Amino acid sequence: MQKCIITIFSLLYSLLKYGETACYYSSNACPQVEKDFLNVHIVPHSHDDVGWLKTVEQYYYGANNSIQNAGVQYIYDSVLEELWKDSEKKFVSVEMEFFSHWWKEQSSHMKRKTHKVVERGQLEFVGGGWCMNDEAAASYVDIVDQMTLGLKFLNDTFGGCAAPKAVWQIDPFGHSREQASIFAQMGFEYLFLGRIDYQDKASRLSNREMEMTWVASDSLNTSIFTGVLYNTYSPPPGFCFDVLCGDETIVDDPDSPMFNIDRRSKQLVAYILEQSKHYRTNNIIITMGEDFHYQNAHTWYKNLDKLIKYINKVYLSSNIRLFYSTPSCYGEAVKNAFVEALPRKTDDFFPYASDPHAYWTGYFTSRPTFKGLVRHSSNLLRACKQIQAMTVKRRSNVLFQFQRSQAIAQHHDAVTGTAKQHVNNDYLLRLDQGIRSCTKIFSESFNHLLSLNGSTMRQEYCTMLNISQCWTTEQNAPFIVTLYNTVSLRSSHTVRIPVADGSYAVTDHEGRLVASQMVPIAEAVLRLPGRNSTAMNELVFIAEDLPPLGLRSYHVQTPEGKPGKRMLRSRSRTIDLPNEKDVTVSAYGLSLTFDRQTGHLIQVGNEMFKQQLLFYRGMSGNNSRFEFRASGAYIFRPNGTEAFPLQPVTKLTTIFGPIVTEIRQHFSANTMQIFRLHRNASYIELDWILGPIPIEDGIGKEYISRFTVPAIRNNGTFYTDSNGREVLERQLNHQTTYKLNITEPTAGNFYPVNSFAYVEDKLTKMRMTVLNDRAQGVSSLLPGSLEFMIHRRLLHDDAFGVGEALNETAYGVGLAARGTHWLMLGNAGTVARFLAQRMVHPPILMFAPTTFSAEEFRQSYRMELALINRDLPPNVNLLTLEPWDDEGRVLVRFEHFYGVGEDERFSHPVTISLKGLFPTLKIQTVEEVNLAANRHIRTLNADELVLNPMEIRTLIVST
Ligand SMILES: [Zn+2]
Repeated sequence: MQKCIITIFSLLYSLLKYGETACYYSSNACPQVEKDFLNVHIVPHSHDDVGWLKTVEQYYYGANNSIQNAGVQYIYDSVLEELWKDSEKKFVSVEMEFFSHWWKEQSSHMKRKTHKVVERGQLEFVGGGWCMNDEAAASYVDIVDQMTLGLKFLNDTFGGCAAPKAVWQIDPFGHSREQASIFAQMGFEYLFLGRIDYQDKASRLSNREMEMTWVASDSLNTSIFTGVLYNTYSPPPGFCFDVLCGDETIVDDPDSPMFNIDRRSKQLVAYILEQSKHYRTNNIIITMGEDFHYQNAHTWYKNLDKLIKYINKVYLSSNIRLFYSTPSCYGEAVKNAFVEALPRKTDDFFPYASDPHAYWTGYFTSRPTFKGLVRHSSNLLRACKQIQAMTVKRRSNVLFQFQRSQAIAQHHDAVTGTAKQHVNNDYLLRLDQGIRSCTKIFSESFNHLLSLNGSTMRQEYCTMLNISQCWTTEQNAPFIVTLYNTVSLRSSHTVRIPVADGSYAVTDHEGRLVASQMVPIAEAVLRLPGRNSTAMNELVFIAEDLPPLGLRSYHVQTPEGKPGKRMLRSRSRTIDLPNEKDVTVSAYGLSLTFDRQTGHLIQVGNEMFKQQLLFYRGMSGNNSRFEFRASGAYIFRPNGTEAFPLQPVTKLTTIFGPIVTEIRQHFSANTMQIFRLHRNASYIELDWILGPIPIEDGIGKEYISRFTVPAIRNNGTFYTDSNGREVLERQLNHQTTYKLNITEPTAGNFYPVNSFAYVEDKLTKMRMTVLNDRAQGVSSLLPGSLEFMIHRRLLHDDAFGVGEALNETAYGVGLAARGTHWLMLGNAGTVARFLAQRMVHPPILMFAPTTFSAEEFRQSYRMELALINRDLPPNVNLLTLEPWDDEGRVLVRFEHFYGVGEDERFSHPVTISLKGLFPTLKIQTVEEVNLAANRHIRTLNADELVLNPMEIRTLIVST
């Protein structure tokens, strides 16, 4: 009974919290707009990067000011005083990383004052994510998470009515359609952009198409009002009144020899009139702020006050009216003013060029190892949340700190690779701490879930598996490897464990010996700078049919005497090039042929094929003029359109075995490619190991991996995912909404890819799909080809602020990187979606030394456990399962991951049921909320949940 009362109370409470009637952001918090006037919405704001030239903490506290005079704590201190003194004044707050930090340090008195200015609509939260995330290299999983984290803080602090209506994406370097769709699904109404392509902007200015309805999904009915700001996010030239600016202050004392308000007002009015020519309604928005402005807010407001007062008086007869406003007030005014339909936008805003030689397409790939880590940690965080939700069911500070680090990593100078090196080191450190604390949670939870008699094991996570290094498995035998399958699909996984030489026997949960293969670790991996390992081999076996959200352990031992009964050594052969004939390797129904001279892959099955590693020479320049722009962290600018081959391939090594067959391409230095065929897979795996990229010739280099199928006539069309979700068509040298004059024929055709890209022959339906393991740039510059940029090392800054060349080093030499592509030929649309889930969310591996024999271990531990009771339909993914509060509530998201028309079998609505799905969760009530989980939609019956193609449904489940 008590539980029941609590439930009713919490429902009433949430209705009160979410109810519309008491919301602050209602029209009455907005300034009155006049029908016959030009309404000028002055929006004071500060753009506060969550790390860029300084670290997040340095920016917050105002440390390290010799780099940049910026301290966000002072901004909020100063602005709040101004807002408190005058209820007309307004300000917008974007990044919850900074605001929540400031909030934490305030007295209860200051918190009450802040509540008041929020209630009065003076301090408006816009976006309200943890940061202003990048839109090219961030995956949808991370975007949804970082927005949810920030909006949850707002909801917990100010109630549901503080949920922002407007988004303020004023600095990301290009804008994705998936991002717009996510915002629409989160209930945002107005989206504002700062940076769009300069040619697009010119066209929109002349056609008065700066504001539009962005239809953001082919499958979902999502759209959002989108406005492009007139002057990025800067104030009108000459009207910057921050202490960081030197613009002429406003003097309104007619007795002063410096009296200038009349002249200065004329200048501003001229600017206003010019801007209004390019917008369709009698409202315009003027951004008053820049990076880290308002540390002394008074200088801004004092000068703006004078201008507003003077212009409103003197230009009254010209029907011009200025007032402090906010993005949501402006959006609402525009919406109310419109009688005609807004122009529609159905594609995205990539790539972004700011001038004819500055295509911001380098950052799609910049810092490839960091991008790889961000993807890796995203998977670990997701698993950690799942485990916590199903065991302790409470939010812990450890989990929150990891969520925070992952959210910070989505900032538009973090995952983009455009922060200074010391800042990137800070991002790395934060993720590393998150990973370490989360793997401790795995260790405790796995023991708790699997131990039959209360005994525990020292479960360890190997952070260096990406360079085939793991002390636990190299130094111990027997040991246990436990896999946790983080996806709600039943899946098989090829396990690779670095081990000392010797022989091993792998035993599964049913006491059966599992076939395994000993594969020598590739020379290029052994030589990787910083590798500190005794392992010369990897023990490879297939973990078949892992249960959805399931754990399974394998016992690995070194049997006395002869090798383990089912362990086989690989047969290897090395072929020096040139060879007498082409080299063909066939295994498990697939065959690959390599050229006898060049060693390049030239044939897959019967299909002519080409795979090459190539590089562009990075342009050097002093950036004094557009044509002198250098290639850098943001900008990709090759010196010419030609891509050059890397060093020649000197030899091929073939490694045959019952589980995996490999063909290793040895280049003359620092480079290797490993083509893999797996017994249980229909795709070809390509492992690349690159670097240090040589720079002795004084030239920076940008490496690509190019795949070509001559039989595919794609006519310059190719397809990329958007943040890992819906697919967009790309056309070489073409944009659908404006006439494109391409001045950088290579860089201007690169697009971001998070998960997969493909080219297709529309007549024959032949398709080549390539999946990537981290965010990269991709293009299709030659017929039938896809080229992924995989690594970059550059020697010049590109003059967009970071002030450093992208010349990453580690262990005293240029940075080496290792990554993976999965390649499929044929009509692989269906498979690609499944594989993308597996590529992005591989099982988590934990290792534990043991003294038990396989049989003893089986007596003491459960070796298999499913954490959901049944399989979900194959087109549905459990996107989120995380502890939501301290009351045992859990956040759950299910997603349909096929688009409308994408697949005959899977692009249909599907029904699932929560009833009895999670064995450890006793579900009491199910509340459906919007994607950000900050608005109530309805109370649900747990029996039936319908998911339409590409739909995500978000639930808060009481347990
Ligand atoms: Zn920024």
